[in-house]
Amino acid sequence: MNGDKRWWENPVRMLRIDYAPDFSIIKDEDLEAVARNRKEDWGINCEWIVGTPGFSNKTHQTTFEAEGYEKYPGLEGFDYLRKYTPIAHKHGIRVIAYLNMHWFSYEFAADHPDWEQITANGERYGIVNPLYGNGTTFCINSGWREWAFSLMGEAMKTGIDGIFLDGPVVFHDCCYCSACQMDFISAYGRPIPHEDWHNPLWKAFLCFRENSLARFLSNAQQAVKRVNPEGVIFLNDGNWEP
Ligand SMILES: [Zn+2]
Repeated sequence: MNGDKRWWENPVRMLRIDYAPDFSIIKDEDLEAVARNRKEDWGINCEWIVGTPGFSNKTHQTTFEAEGYEKYPGLEGFDYLRKYTPIAHKHGIRVIAYLNMHWFSYEFAADHPDWEQITANGERYGIVNPLYGNGTTFCINSGWREWAFSLMGEAMKTGIDGIFLDGPVVFHDCCYCSACQMDFISAYGRPIPHEDWHNPLWKAFLCFRENSLARFLSNAQQAVKRVNPEGVIFLNDGNWEP
């Protein structure tokens, strides 16, 4: 702490280490030695640790105990966030959890048919444009919202200092799902138009998309602050206008 500044207002030196392709080997590490190494050899004061893996078809699974969520295989009986965070804190390292918010397997999506982003032609985004070659993405106006906010709250309950959201992203030619259509019609009285830069309603849709994302992020921040008013949140996202 420097003066009245909060920790994240001072220079942050942050490290992220993934254990791909099998994250479960983390449970066999000496976490005390891990934190000491990262503090003393890497000189970090903040660490970005995996709450949900950002790879393979496991991006909806958690490395920590989260009510209502599927645990990453191999980590049964081991709560990475609750176990590592107090050790990291003892070494002067703040902890931020990585949470995937944009890439989900077809299998997980099949369990939630109303959550996927839909293109103007009514197709599932991930079928037309397989994400990273394999997978799909969900809509910020769909029922997935509650899944996402609840996951953020569950992560914050572990005692971490904040979360990093990898997404969500409103992808090109999206979203025309039933939730978006309902919200758009209630705001503008007509269905979402197809792309046409001479159509004022198309421009209204661009604003609608940005406002939808702003609303999602505002609700995400609330989900964090409800558990810890000092909690921080930041994200990787695309297509923001100035
Ligand atoms: Zn939608």
